[in-house]
Amino acid sequence: MKYSALKGVHDIFPPDIYTWHKIEGVAKDIFSASGFQELRTPIIESTDIFVRSIGETTDIVEKEMYTFTDKGGRRITLRPEGTAPVVRCYVENHLYNLPSPQKFFYSGPMFRYERPQAGRFRQFFQIGAESFGAGDPKIDAEILSMLKLFFERLGLEGLNFEVNSIGCEKCRPDYRNALRDFFAGRIDRLCPDCKRRYEKNPLRILDCKVDTCIELKEGAPHVTDFLCGECREHFDAFVSLLKLLNIPHAINPNMVRGLDYYTRTTFEVTCQNLGSQNAVAAGGRYDKLVEDFGGPPTPAIGFAIGMERLVTLVKSCSIDGIPAPAVFIAAIGAPGEREGLRIADQLRKKAVWVELGYAGNSLKSQLRRADRLSSKHVLIIGDDEIKSGRLKWKRLSDGSQGEIAISEVYDFFE
Ligand code: ATP
Ligand code: MG
Repeated sequence: MKYSALKGVHDIFPPDIYTWHKIEGVAKDIFSASGFQELRTPIIESTDIFVRSIGETTDIVEKEMYTFTDKGGRRITLRPEGTAPVVRCYVENHLYNLPSPQKFFYSGPMFRYERPQAGRFRQFFQIGAESFGAGDPKIDAEILSMLKLFFERLGLEGLNFEVNSIGCEKCRPDYRNALRDFFAGRIDRLCPDCKRRYEKNPLRILDCKVDTCIELKEGAPHVTDFLCGECREHFDAFVSLLKLLNIPHAINPNMVRGLDYYTRTTFEVTCQNLGSQNAVAAGGRYDKLVEDFGGPPTPAIGFAIGMERLVTLVKSCSIDGIPAPAVFIAAIGAPGEREGLRIADQLRKKAVWVELGYAGNSLKSQLRRADRLSSKHVLIIGDDEIKSGRLKWKRLSDGSQGEIAISEVYDFFE
C-alpha cells in the first residue's frame, strides 16, 4: 500500500523548516516590538462565523470552505482565514475590557478548497496580526511600517505596497450603484459568478480573477471618488503618514479585497518574483466586525501574510546556514560506545547537539556521517582513550585538533 499526501497540501521538513523558523522568529520579534501578543484559536469554528463575516457572495464562502457536519449535527468549518476566529475570541472573552488598542498576532494553517497551483494550496499557513480599539489612521500606518520592517529584516527587496480605501457603510451604497450602472451594459459578458454578484454585491466583480471580467472592469468607477468626508480625511491622513515613514506605496483604487468585512483602508503587499500568485500579504480595516459579532463598537485593522509564498521569497534571496551538530562522537568498540553515550548524555543536558556514531559501522563510515552532518567537532573514543582518560578532538571547519581530558568535555563544548 502506498500513501501520499492529499492534493494541495504539503509536508514541511528540513532544511525548509529552518526558513519557517527564521520567519516565525522575525515575526515574533518585530510584532512584539509594536506590542502585538500571540493569540491561538482553534482550527475549527462554527460555519456561521465565516459565512457572516467573510460574506455569502465571496469566493471563500461560495466555493472554498471545508465544511462538515460533526456527530452532534453541528455545521463546522476548517478556518479559511484568521480574522473571524480572532474577533470571535476577542468578543467571547471580553478582551475589549482591557485597555485598548489590544494587539494580537497568530500563526497557523488555513484551509481553502482552491485549485492547487504554484503559490496556492488547500492547506496553507498564515501569520497575521490584528489591532482592536483604534480607528486612528496612525495605527494603519504603524501596521504597514511594521510589515515593511518585517520584510526588510528578512532581507527581502522589490516589494510593492498597494493601498486603497473602500469607504464605509455611508459611502458604499453610492459606489455600489455607480458600479451597477457601469456594468449594466456589460452584464452579458460577465462570468456566471459575476452575473450573480452584479445584483448581490457588485464590488466583488472587481476582485474576480476570470480574464474576461478583468478586461470588463477596465474603466470602472473608482471607490476613492465616492468616499464620504470622514473616509476621505482618514485615507488622506493615512497616506500622508506613509510618506512621513518613507513607506513607498501605490494607490490602487480597484483593490477591494476578497472579504466583505473590510471598511476604509485596504492594502496588499506584492512581489514581482512570485509570478501570478504575487500577493504575499494583505489586510485592511474592519471597523464593524466586532459589533457584528456582538461586541461593543470597536474599530479594528489587521493583515495576514502567506507563509508559503514568503518562504519561497526568503529562500530565493538568502542562503542561511542550517543547524549542525556541535559534537560528533565516533566510537571504536563496545566500551568506547558506552563512554560516548555517557558523554553525549551529559552534554545534551545543557542542550548541546551531540550525534553519536555507532560502532557497528566502521570508523571511516562514522566519520563520513560526521562530515555529511557538517558537525563542528569530532571526538573519537576507543579503548586507548578510556585507559588514558584523554580524548582527541578535531574541528572540521579548519582541521585544527587538540586533546582534552574526558572529565573536561562537559565544559569544553557550548
Ligand atoms: P489571492 O488573491 O492570492 O487569492 P486572497 O485575497 O485570497 O489572496 P487573503 O485571504 O487576504 O488572500 O490571504 C492573505 C495571504 O495569504 C495572501 O496574500 C496569500 O499570500 C496567502 N494565501 C491566500 N490563499 C492562499 C492559498 N490558497 N495558498 C497559499 N497562500 C495563500
Ligand atoms: Mg484567494
